[in-house]
Amino acid sequence: MNKFNIGIDLGGTKIESVVLDLNFNILFRQRILTESQKGSQHVLSQIENIYLQAINHIEDSEHTLGVGTPGSLSKSTGLLRNSTISCQNGLPIHTLIEEKLNHSLSIENDANCFALAESHMGAGKKYGLVFGVIMGTGCGGGFIHNGELRAGPQRLAGEWGHSVIDPNGPLCFCGKNGCVSTYISGTGLEEMIYDSLKIKISAEKFLSQLIYNKEEEDILNKFYEFYGLSLANIINTIDPDIIILGGGLSNHKDLYTKGLQMVYKNIFCEEPTTPIIKNILGDSAGVIGAAIIGKTGSIKDC
Ligand SMILES: [Zn+2]
Repeated sequence: MNKFNIGIDLGGTKIESVVLDLNFNILFRQRILTESQKGSQHVLSQIENIYLQAINHIEDSEHTLGVGTPGSLSKSTGLLRNSTISCQNGLPIHTLIEEKLNHSLSIENDANCFALAESHMGAGKKYGLVFGVIMGTGCGGGFIHNGELRAGPQRLAGEWGHSVIDPNGPLCFCGKNGCVSTYISGTGLEEMIYDSLKIKISAEKFLSQLIYNKEEEDILNKFYEFYGLSLANIINTIDPDIIILGGGLSNHKDLYTKGLQMVYKNIFCEEPTTPIIKNILGDSAGVIGAAIIGKTGSIKDC
């Protein structure tokens, strides 16, 4: 019987591993650099390195294994697409990692891992229908029902970041214009600021300013307007018990006050009550979710 669950979270700059016991207590964790500039073979070797150290910690005991990755695997081809670890795009990474580690594994998008971890061990523990929202470099999400990840027949569930909210908006990398991600992700906000003011500033720094001039305030209002629309669309569609925010922008406290009011303003309901809460697990959610995916394999296609 498997006594341990190992999770590996692939990120653009670092790879993280965790070993959980049967009750999902963290026994061991580690981070190493991805070094993706050295190519896909090197990234695979880094994954092998961190995995070997994890199994060394449990003295080669039987274990489950789950991997979280940016981007998504095409259901028809099995090839990775839209990953920020660009050297892995177009590769059958599920097979490649299994062969490299000589161990079967489950693999899932990192936003789905985030939502799953928060649903099991974080802010969503007491809720049945949990929608996890990532507002980081891009916008992603995951949809959890009674502790199980729902992927959908096209594996699209949670991809709210590429819903078009302004057909005349900026071009998104996905090929459409005015996706949610082009307005309320870190990159989207930074491009909005640059287009208007010709200055480069991080989204997190911009949102943390205490004083705004008129032009900056216009951008801030636009950001909150689109934030309100984007999250209200989720609520109007699936009416989740809770929305949990993750990613770098989730640290900005006004999202839960001023932002919440902008969301509620757009909900098709007179007295909206949906809680919009910051994550509890922080940076750890992705790797914990990967370990849970390895154990449960709980992806439902419909
Ligand atoms: Zn898009």
